[in-house]
Amino acid sequence: MHVSRQSAAPSTAIPAEWITGDATVKAVVATQSGVQTQVDSVTFAPAARTVWHRHPLGQILFITAGTGRVQRLGGPIETVGVGDTVHIEPDEWHWHGAAPSVAMTHLALEPIPVDGSTPEAGDPVTDHEYHSGDTDQSAEPAAVFRHVVLDQILSSPRSTQRVEVRRITIAPGFAGGLHVHNGPVFGSIETGSVVYEIDGEPATVLGPGDVFYEPEGARIARFDAQDNGATFLGYFLLDTGQSPEIEFPAS
Ligand code: MN
Repeated sequence: MHVSRQSAAPSTAIPAEWITGDATVKAVVATQSGVQTQVDSVTFAPAARTVWHRHPLGQILFITAGTGRVQRLGGPIETVGVGDTVHIEPDEWHWHGAAPSVAMTHLALEPIPVDGSTPEAGDPVTDHEYHSGDTDQSAEPAAVFRHVVLDQILSSPRSTQRVEVRRITIAPGFAGGLHVHNGPVFGSIETGSVVYEIDGEPATVLGPGDVFYEPEGARIARFDAQDNGATFLGYFLLDTGQSPEIEFPAS
């Protein structure tokens, strides 16, 4: 038995023809007689990635820190995180690297062919190729993430002088019943769930994070709490001198 201390293995830069951006490699298992697998720990700076390349006997990647991206030729860009394992087939063209705003470290396990053949480097992964994975932002941690959940044109143009925001709690199973507001109401569910139905339209179930819009004067057939009750924020758009009013038509 032999223990190699972390400090014993120097980190070295990856040759420029293999990488876009900054990445370092540290040998975890020193290549030596009798060892058939090369094991490296590779750290990619944010947005750094390998060029397209292939390994004669394939490769296994095990993500140990951060968030990364991997792609095989002809496949989608996939986001990978700590604990994920990536299996790359023999001679399969592929690349691997960090996410745009987060570094990534993986262990790379590569069988060494007895015939002496070595990995082959191809073209760099262009910015266009790399950023075509940006639509999958939800899978990556970021300092700030903005996502449009509702972009609503009001049913009729109006003047808004004031917005009243209410936190409203509905008891489990309570059915709000048919009602009409004297102005537009927006809302977002905080906890629980409701069955929401504008008269004449299909009913939908709204849960935490879901948003809704009740047009001014529209007949809201249902806003009924389910078994777990519901708490939501309601934003009442009001004109000068107007107060939020709610009517409960008999039918
Ligand atoms: Mn590889």
